[in-house]
Amino acid sequence: MDIEKLKLLIRDVPDYPKEGVVFKDINPVLADPDGFETAIHGMARNYENSKIDSVVGIEARGFIFAAGIAMVLSAGVIPVRKPGKLPLSTKSVRYELEYGDDALEIQDGAVSIGERVIIVDDVLATGGTMRASIDLLRMCEADIIGVCCFIELDFLKGREKFDRNIVTSSLINY
Ligand code: AMP
Repeated sequence: MDIEKLKLLIRDVPDYPKEGVVFKDINPVLADPDGFETAIHGMARNYENSKIDSVVGIEARGFIFAAGIAMVLSAGVIPVRKPGKLPLSTKSVRYELEYGDDALEIQDGAVSIGERVIIVDDVLATGGTMRASIDLLRMCEADIIGVCCFIELDFLKGREKFDRNIVTSSLINY
């Protein structure tokens, strides 16, 4: 499937989850075998020769893309989750939301020092979620080879929240 056809599977939902936000509903992409395969291979392509050890997926839709990409790259999957969802000891990073703040966690020992990882999510919007995930992986002393999103909302300039040495790729840009 070409990218223009893939784009037709992304559904805009105005004013969800709140007024003024246009939610990018990727469920029709997941439900379409050819569409999902195109998304996964398109996202994995940049990293095929990068010897990636693990693909880090951000809760919740990031898990789906991370799992598919990990299969293509013969890598493992590591979840980054909302607070209180992971057993045993964790590392945690708080980050700012429009109203208030939230946190993300990773299990201690989930990543080895120097492990080659990419971090995956469905949508890169303001970049706060991904920035917090980058900070978590840095705390683990992982080698962050790249950040990879299915969709990037360019007008929100999310990638400007990351250091310039973080290589950021996205399959579909708005
Ligand atoms: P942000 O931290 O602003 O970059 O937001 C990224 C996270 O929020 C991702 O995990 C997305 O799943 C979700 N998200 C933010 N904006 C949208 C949007 N317009 N459509 C779908 N998901 C979004």
